[in-house]
Amino acid sequence: MLIDFHTHTSASDGALAPRALLDRAAARGVAMLAITDHDTVAGYLDAQAHGLAVHPALQLVPGVEFSCRWSGTTVHIVGLGVDIGHPALRAGLDFLAAARRERGEKIAARLAARGFPGALAGALAEAGSSQLGRPHFAAWLVARGHVRDAGEAFDRLLGQGKTGDVQCCWPELAEAVGWIRDSGGIAVIAHPLKYRFTGMKLRRLVAAFAAAGGEAIEIICGRQQPQQAGQLRRLAGECGLAVSAGSDFHRDGPYNAPLGVDSAALAGLPAVWERLQRR
Ligand code: MN
Ligand code: MN
Ligand code: MN
Repeated sequence: MLIDFHTHTSASDGALAPRALLDRAAARGVAMLAITDHDTVAGYLDAQAHGLAVHPALQLVPGVEFSCRWSGTTVHIVGLGVDIGHPALRAGLDFLAAARRERGEKIAARLAARGFPGALAGALAEAGSSQLGRPHFAAWLVARGHVRDAGEAFDRLLGQGKTGDVQCCWPELAEAVGWIRDSGGIAVIAHPLKYRFTGMKLRRLVAAFAAAGGEAIEIICGRQQPQQAGQLRRLAGECGLAVSAGSDFHRDGPYNAPLGVDSAALAGLPAVWERLQRR
């Protein structure tokens, strides 16, 4: 069975419209799909309206990916099976919408100081109805001819440690986990190895996450080495966490994972989809 508990649509920074993502997943035979856009459930809502009628065999799981702060860095927490009408989730989404706006203003101010004025209006126009994020600033920089492509935009101006890497505004880890828990969802640490923490720091993150009510970690996320799944499986086992898996699909590309993960890779482990299936 193919499952996928981490995907993005054009409601955040994915290339495919929600319905197109759903069509793609259905065509690939994905049985359970969570749409986990950054800080919004708009993509899920759109896909749900389409999917019930067109792809009745595909179980669509409501989800979200929250950015939050922990120990001086940004980490991502996926929420699965959240009640999207719950006031706790709404509070979280509202908080993040304001945070993204505030962050966008700071990124734009920094870009202006580097000789690129007008970035906020430009990025908001690129974002349209999507959540404002750095890819929209990158698209604006490309459209203005300031950089050749999005890769150069991130390398020079927006990537980690660059002028547009503003981390000020995110909620604390415990807060984000709380919104997910309070709205009936399962909190999952997204792509645990992407933060490049030492083993000891990763264990500290897992401990803080579990103390806040977090329940699972992704052991398969996008393209990764086989030994990484093993490492994460051991970590989950040692810390008593359930496991999740997803593609983190944003768009097609040579280094990107396609939609869908074989659930056999998680056989015998306490996996999130078993609980989501029963709802
Ligand atoms: Mn993204
Ligand atoms: Mn992420
Ligand atoms: Mn993601």
